Amino acid sequence: MPSPTYPIVPELTAIKPLPQSERVSVVVVGAGVVGLSSALWLQRAGHAVTILDPEPPLAGSGYLGAASFGNACTVALGACIPVGTPGILSDVPGMLVKRASPLSIFWGDLPRLLPWLVDFLRASSQREFHRIVGVLGQLIRLAEAGHNPLFEEARATHLKRSHGCLYLYRSERSFARAQRDIDLRRREGVRMEMLDRKAVKEREPNLAPLYSNGLLFSDAYRIDDALLYAQALAALFQSKGGQFIRSISRAIESNDRGLIVQCQDGRPIEADRVVVAAGAWSRQLARTVGDRIRLDTERGYHVLFPRAGHLLNAPVCYPEHGFYMTPLGEGIRSAGTVELGGLGKPARPERTNVIEKVSRILLPGLGEAGRKWLGFRPSMPDSLPVISRSPTDPRITYAFGHGHIGLTLAGITGRLVCDLISGHAPAIDLHPLRANRF
Ligand SMILES: Cc1cc2nc3c(=O)[nH]c(=O)nc-3n(C[C@H](O)[C@H](O)[C@H](O)COP(=O)(O)OP(=O)(O)OC[C@H]3O[C@@H](n4cnc5c(N)ncnc54)[C@H](O)[C@@H]3O)c2cc1C
Repeated sequence: MPSPTYPIVPELTAIKPLPQSERVSVVVVGAGVVGLSSALWLQRAGHAVTILDPEPPLAGSGYLGAASFGNACTVALGACIPVGTPGILSDVPGMLVKRASPLSIFWGDLPRLLPWLVDFLRASSQREFHRIVGVLGQLIRLAEAGHNPLFEEARATHLKRSHGCLYLYRSERSFARAQRDIDLRRREGVRMEMLDRKAVKEREPNLAPLYSNGLLFSDAYRIDDALLYAQALAALFQSKGGQFIRSISRAIESNDRGLIVQCQDGRPIEADRVVVAAGAWSRQLARTVGDRIRLDTERGYHVLFPRAGHLLNAPVCYPEHGFYMTPLGEGIRSAGTVELGGLGKPARPERTNVIEKVSRILLPGLGEAGRKWLGFRPSMPDSLPVISRSPTDPRITYAFGHGHIGLTLAGITGRLVCDLISGHAPAIDLHPLRANRF
């Protein structure tokens, strides 16, 4: 059967400003790329939006705590394969004992993590896996329709570097193992090109010749600076009358008039609606409303090589090593790997040592390393985000749990959040993304 062909940017119906009587006041908790994109889409519909975050991407704030700061900067328009795949259970024990593995765990956290891990394994069954690929495929086909209007209005299109993204396989065997996922991506309309060794070398001559096959995701692109992108969105938000409040939200309560977000500094902020987009920290906030959500974090790291930006033409990822090497204005950012261990613990230098060591093997000439960073991916067991009204209070909307592809899906998430709050029919069925699916 021939593969279906999907338009790269399918149409979304245009958002028109709502009549005054239908506009509401909204507090968005979290100024990561998901919160910012949601706020901007809500403003397009005419709502009055405030963003609450202790460290928004404004001059004078760090933003280092947000996953949106330190990711691999790749808009991964082929990433419809969840983390949990059939057969993963047999790979995990080997990965956990190898020092240079892309996966590690704080063993003391195992009892706390068990419910998440059990649901992760359930989501990795053959049937669930195929269903999840379909849902991710649908979201990814809409990703650009969600991003583009924001890029354009924020005058940030100059940050896009469109030269694809390259996956490399070190052996014929690892490439053969990838075939199932390649076929599924094709089913979902992802445009890919197979490259032999010669073609890889022509494209990326500085890589050590430690690959047998390449897979090019032609439509994927990188954002040259994730912080500048977030700052451009923040500036647009303010120029349209949006306000930032620098504080931590502790709880969401309700009274007769509406919702109250209680801040750490004692300030209550009233609103008709609240969007929880606090990334990996969203679970605690949802708890204060009475919702228990199976959200945890997959910790990830990056190492920056400031003098090496010229060595690559586009992001390169060896899936077996679990991180990207992305050429950015600030240098090469080697970003990725997964560490299970929750939010509170400090970074482990041995994890960045692994990334640094493997990067130097794959891409000689990197020069000295600069910033080393730990970030917290907000992750659900099935690799699908939560884009949903709260089951307890429909005036609260959840937008978190984007795991490895939050930068990619931020725009479409913002649009879907806007549809939920504005009473429009969302462009896709949101049932698979409901908050209480676990
Ligand atoms: C190493 C690494 C590489 C990655 N690479 C990619 C990639 O190449 N492509 C891709 O698409 N995705 C990638 N990701 C994933 C992506 O970065 C995340 O999915 C995305 O940034 C999540 O965005 P967010 O807005 O939900 O959360 P965050 O960016 O974490 O933002 C959450 C915000 O909420 C605020 N906050 C938290 N608690 C509170 C509170 N109680 N009150 C108020 N504010 C609060 C925080 O200060 C923060 O600013 C990567 C992630 C990592 C860690």
